[in-house]
Amino acid sequence: GNKPKIVVLGAGYAGMMTTKRLTQQFAPEEVDITLVNKHNYHYQTTWLHEVAAGTIDVNRSRIMISDVINTRRVNFVHDTVVKINKEAKTVQLENSEINYDYLVIGLGFEKATFGIPGMEEHAFSIQSVDKSRMIRDHIEYQFARYRNEKTPDPSMLTIVVGGAGFTGIEFLGELAERIPLLCKKYDIPRQDVKIIDVEAMPTVLPGFDEELLSYAKESLEYRGIEFKLGTMIKEVKADSVIVGEDEEEIKAGTIVWTGGVQANRIVGESGFELTKGKVNVDPTLRAPGHDEVFILGDCAWVMNNETGKPYPPTAQIAIQEADVCAHNIKTMIYGGTLQEFTFDDKGTVASLGGSDAMGTVFDGNKLYGMQAKVMKNVIDDRYLFLLGGPMLVLKKGKFRPF
Ligand code: FAD
Repeated sequence: GNKPKIVVLGAGYAGMMTTKRLTQQFAPEEVDITLVNKHNYHYQTTWLHEVAAGTIDVNRSRIMISDVINTRRVNFVHDTVVKINKEAKTVQLENSEINYDYLVIGLGFEKATFGIPGMEEHAFSIQSVDKSRMIRDHIEYQFARYRNEKTPDPSMLTIVVGGAGFTGIEFLGELAERIPLLCKKYDIPRQDVKIIDVEAMPTVLPGFDEELLSYAKESLEYRGIEFKLGTMIKEVKADSVIVGEDEEEIKAGTIVWTGGVQANRIVGESGFELTKGKVNVDPTLRAPGHDEVFILGDCAWVMNNETGKPYPPTAQIAIQEADVCAHNIKTMIYGGTLQEFTFDDKGTVASLGGSDAMGTVFDGNKLYGMQAKVMKNVIDDRYLFLLGGPMLVLKKGKFRPF
């Protein structure tokens, strides 16, 4: 028929919440809604550091899309996006081509390597369920090998993490919990294992509150994590990392890069202009020159007018953008005033493994340890509630502090 056709690409935080909101805003006879995703499941990107370290089961971090999206209302296409043809208003998928009147791009991030030689080929990244599961299995494989070789190379048990931002710190926290368990499982002394974080900036968690970042660093050091701050990674090889001005070579059996993200490469390859790896969208979240294309989450930069800087890439922001996007699509169809995005900061909490965490809450108050961990679980459960109601919280929630 002549119903406007809305196509949402990617079932991450931005894509899932936009789809959910669209089904709430429109009656079935008003619009056609299509959701395209690579997998038939949605995953919690914010839990992938736990999957990568092996501290939660893979299935805990994912939700079948058909469990939370009404597939009689939404045409779910289980396929991979290859390219967007914005002039023709079509999307090329691996197995078909679809057309749209309104497009929502929520294809998430991929690792940004800043041209560091070898990073692309030799470093893992915490990027999807598949890639995170590889990290978990690779680390465990190194333990098994170490145990079984006659004269094992001690560097097999060295894990180098590049970057000490939010993802790096959360991953280190999980490793600090997981490694002692692997040591027990494979009868390996804990002191044989080295976990080294290399960060170019002089502190961990650049931009975070001083007290909070010191707390995080001390908590991790206490559990045996070493930091090399103010140190650049110069090159990554198959079994080592070259760091710092003196080009020190650290031999390592596992190398994980958490130092940077950029928009899914499909966005740039489809001809959207990139600034530092992402698209600068207007305050209504639309791509410059393409009023019918909304770009959300980690594919976009949205300016914070108070600071003059773009908002950081977070799940919290991606979820809030979905509300504005769904509202604005309705406005474009029926008329009215487009809404501009403003961020309602509910606080940020980083988990540090086990029952430890730290962060700020909505009123700017700082939380540490178990209190922060409880808050982190509340934030995670709130999202599950928005997405799938109380049943989803019961099924996948983190209502227990550990
Ligand atoms: P995503 O949630 O990454 O979703 C992208 C989706 O697109 C995926 O489902 C993917 O399968 C799909 N896709 C990709 N390519 C294709 C394709 N070619 N075809 C079809 N589908 C495709 N933020 C917070 O606010 N709080 C936190 O505590 C926090 N912790 C984090 C911890 C870790 C380990 C990481 C990595 C990130 C964390 N973040 C956190 C950041 C947050 O996860 C991201 O900002 C958020 O995931 C962005 O959402 P998105 O919808 O843009 O992308």
